[in-house]
Amino acid sequence: ASDIELVDVTKRYGGTKRAAVDSVSMTIPAGEIVVFVGPSGCGKTTTMRMINRLIEPTSGKITIDGADTRSLDPDELRRGIGYAIQQAGLFPHMTVAQNVGTVPGLLGWSKTKVRDRVDEMLDLVGLDPADYRDRFPRQLSGGQQQRVGVARALAADPPVLLMDEPFGAVDPITRGNLQDQLLRLQSELGKTIVFVTHDFDEAVKLGDRIAVLGEQSRILQYDTPEAVLANP
Ligand code: ADP
Ligand code: ADP
Repeated sequence: ASDIELVDVTKRYGGTKRAAVDSVSMTIPAGEIVVFVGPSGCGKTTTMRMINRLIEPTSGKITIDGADTRSLDPDELRRGIGYAIQQAGLFPHMTVAQNVGTVPGLLGWSKTKVRDRVDEMLDLVGLDPADYRDRFPRQLSGGQQQRVGVARALAADPPVLLMDEPFGAVDPITRGNLQDQLLRLQSELGKTIVFVTHDFDEAVKLGDRIAVLGEQSRILQYDTPEAVLANP
């Protein structure tokens, strides 16, 4: 299990006056699910992308297990962090199986092991492998693409998951099942999960803690769901 610490992290995109993330300090404890909620544009996605170094903070420091992320090789860092996004972000020219098997392939797993793992992950997100393995992303609905994106994020069994509205287009019943799977991965495998949602019920169901961000891209509240509900 890995804890993630943000120390006075600020991000200012080039040419913008307002900070996209403004002086955020927080500890995401190992093995917990921390859910970010807040209005659109308050810096949730930017925060995620700084953790896996798709973008760099303007100032401040991010550590994982005490190691400054700047001291780590970005590709290696990202192999240990599953990232699932609202737009799914699947490689359009690759089949579902190739998409899900990308990171295990990079890690040098054998073909058989990758194939078994792909099928296991598709089962986990409720897609019959026999039916979906060889499809291309364009042959899937939006919700199904998101589910493949989640399967891809989980495939190499990373200790950290960053999930940016990963279930937004998924039907409510499947969404409930996926939420239960995440809770299981947390309790059985001790994964540290950072989750963004606009759905407050989802935040309360999943979160050990909820981080409420405000219009000013600062943290307004960071507490248990019970405490956030009691003091909105
Ligand atoms: P959220 O995920 O909470 O909706 P984002 O992190 O996407 O917020 O965006 C935070 C702020 O940064 C917004 O004002 C957004 O317009 C701005 N922003 C995001 N990406 C870029 C970019 N690549 N260049 C300039 N501004 C950006
Ligand atoms: P969802 O509620 O998950 O977004 P949709 O109503 O978009 O589902 O799609 C319903 C069904 O149609 C799905 O089983 C999906 O596999 C199939 N489907 C959607 N788009 C395509 C496509 N372009 N090619 C093949 N099948 C598709």
